[in-house]
Amino acid sequence: MSAVTTRTTCPYCGVGCGVNAVVENDAVSVAGDAAHPSNLGSLCSKGTALADTVGLDGRLLHPMVDGRRASWDDALDEVAARFGEIIAEHGPDAVAFYVSGQLLTEDYYVANKLMKGYIGSANIDTNSRLCMSSAVAGHKRAFGEDVVPGCYEDLEIADLVVLVGSNTAWCHPVVYQRIVAAQEHDPNKKLVVIDPRRTATAEGADLHLPLAPGTDVHLFNGLLAYLADQGSTSDLPDAEDAVAEARNMGDIAAVAAACGMDADTVSAFFELFAATERTVTVFSQGVNQSSAGTDKVNAIINCHLLTDRIGKPGACPFSITGQPNAMGGREVGGLSSTLAAHIGFDGADRVQRFWDSPTIAREPGLKAVELFEAIERGEVKAVWIMATNPLVSLPHADRAKRALEACEFVAVSDCMRHTDTVDRAHVLLPAAAWAEKSGTVTNSERIISRQRAFLPMPGAARADWDIVCDVARRMGFDGFDFDSPAAIFREHAALTAFENDGQRVLNLDGLADLSDDDYDTLKPLRWPVHSTQALRAAGAMAVQQDSRRLFADGVYPTSDGKAHLVAVTPRGPANAVSDQWPLALNTGRVRDHWHTMTRTAKSARLAAHIPEPFVEVHPRDAERYGVADGALAAVSTTLGEAHVRVIVTAGQREGSLFVPMHWNDQFAARARVGALANPAVCPISGEPEFKHTPAAIAPF
Ligand code: SF4
Repeated sequence: MSAVTTRTTCPYCGVGCGVNAVVENDAVSVAGDAAHPSNLGSLCSKGTALADTVGLDGRLLHPMVDGRRASWDDALDEVAARFGEIIAEHGPDAVAFYVSGQLLTEDYYVANKLMKGYIGSANIDTNSRLCMSSAVAGHKRAFGEDVVPGCYEDLEIADLVVLVGSNTAWCHPVVYQRIVAAQEHDPNKKLVVIDPRRTATAEGADLHLPLAPGTDVHLFNGLLAYLADQGSTSDLPDAEDAVAEARNMGDIAAVAAACGMDADTVSAFFELFAATERTVTVFSQGVNQSSAGTDKVNAIINCHLLTDRIGKPGACPFSITGQPNAMGGREVGGLSSTLAAHIGFDGADRVQRFWDSPTIAREPGLKAVELFEAIERGEVKAVWIMATNPLVSLPHADRAKRALEACEFVAVSDCMRHTDTVDRAHVLLPAAAWAEKSGTVTNSERIISRQRAFLPMPGAARADWDIVCDVARRMGFDGFDFDSPAAIFREHAALTAFENDGQRVLNLDGLADLSDDDYDTLKPLRWPVHSTQALRAAGAMAVQQDSRRLFADGVYPTSDGKAHLVAVTPRGPANAVSDQWPLALNTGRVRDHWHTMTRTAKSARLAAHIPEPFVEVHPRDAERYGVADGALAAVSTTLGEAHVRVIVTAGQREGSLFVPMHWNDQFAARARVGALANPAVCPISGEPEFKHTPAAIAPF
């Protein structure tokens, strides 16, 4: 059989690389798509190994009810009936959906529509809450809307790239490769990394600031005051207040002391930032995953607004997202704190008019951590979890486990037969996996790309959007008669334009009447897309050129049309270290694994990079607490204990530990670090503080 090539998108990180998947004689191979504007043909180690992960071993291939194989009719009737009964008896807020940045935009759209427009609750939240909701909240405060203003090309144009709380070399490798390649082309280009750990990214930096955990606001307030002292001014609202608050940090020596660094390093960074007009500041989970996450985001954006470094080539603050479709999910209302199409709850009537739905949620729903707390209290009595494994990934994960075990009704849609979460479901719904899915995703630079199926649906598996629509119809709701992801996408695009009048930047008016053929052949393109005519006349790539940078005109989707600086007051982590728990536990990713390893563990070459869970310890801490390099150690917090291999490294900041998030009960006994992480959250975004849990370490 001749080879068939399908253009699709990588399902891992928010870089959103284009992939050419080739099927020949039932064998799958992948290569980077040179025509995709985000990766230009490159793939990282995870993307390159995608073909290793598409086998059917471990797949969930049939519906199950109470542990027994069931028909689709029986399984879907059970979900519809149990949700219906609980809603009738206890009201719409007694049920919830917990979804995922692994869902495609079309899946997300119908799940959100069902919960907010038909069930009438906003209790739908996503695991994206755990990685980028602080960026969402910071964007809304500063710009009026959740908008990333720049594009990857800005990272190449910039004379200075500042990476904050981001091990980009491991977690967004193709973006990092683009920065490095640009630096090789222009040796004057500088790279600064701000991270408590000396990561692989920090190793390649011109300047590394190993700040104390949780002191990002201290540093960026110090920078804001310094920039103002150097003559930067702004007539934007709140600029004066933000600068006045920032001046409370004192001089550079005081900033350095607060951040646990030497003054020369801080001074070098401030001077470089002040002197470099074309600066991009990239931030990721190290900023977002904090009880002060939203303030940290605004402290960074403040420095760009004060110096007018936004909307220009090579100048912007840049949130880089963790998951392949965290952005698409944000766009269609996957977060409980918004409706759909970036419309807030003040626009509830508008959304209800568009959907012509029987009801509409008028208040924000429960955010991820709150949602599982409400399940534990018995207030939420039925939950439908889609494409995520919260019993590993949530903080205080053992509480989430207890909550699910006590929950009256748990439905799980997943492609895997066994995960920590799947094993606690009353009804299991077999969902399509990456190679079988068709729809769209949006990456960190606002580019919408097609994911296209290149393998047949195995067993009885179905697409997530199809499963959700079927349940909605069985609950008696109209409005879910979609026959394809293209039909859902058209409705999503139309909603973004409905009564928009320029109030929101997210506008896909030009895609609202795409034919099925247009959708099938859709090239990657960046939102906003206002006009079909322009799209067709110019071609997708040209439209993308027009929308690369936003806010160049200084007009923002706020009530006064201006961007806003936010005065932010530095504060430490929610839970401080103590004599009993003297170390700050930080969790994060490794280069070659993804989330809870259901896919990447299938690849021998990926698993070989780091074969077992570990804890990084500074040499003085290793000596102090009696743990040896290569030996096993018990890492404990008030919530639990993990047993992991010790790596003693001077790259780990003294007083801190790092343990990767991936391993779970299936792959290593007692290595589920989510069970150890404290559930403190940012009061604005609800994002958990994964980067700072007081902990102890001892030999095991
Ligand atoms: Fe996939 Fe991200 Fe790697 Fe690109 S950088 S190949 S999107 S994991």
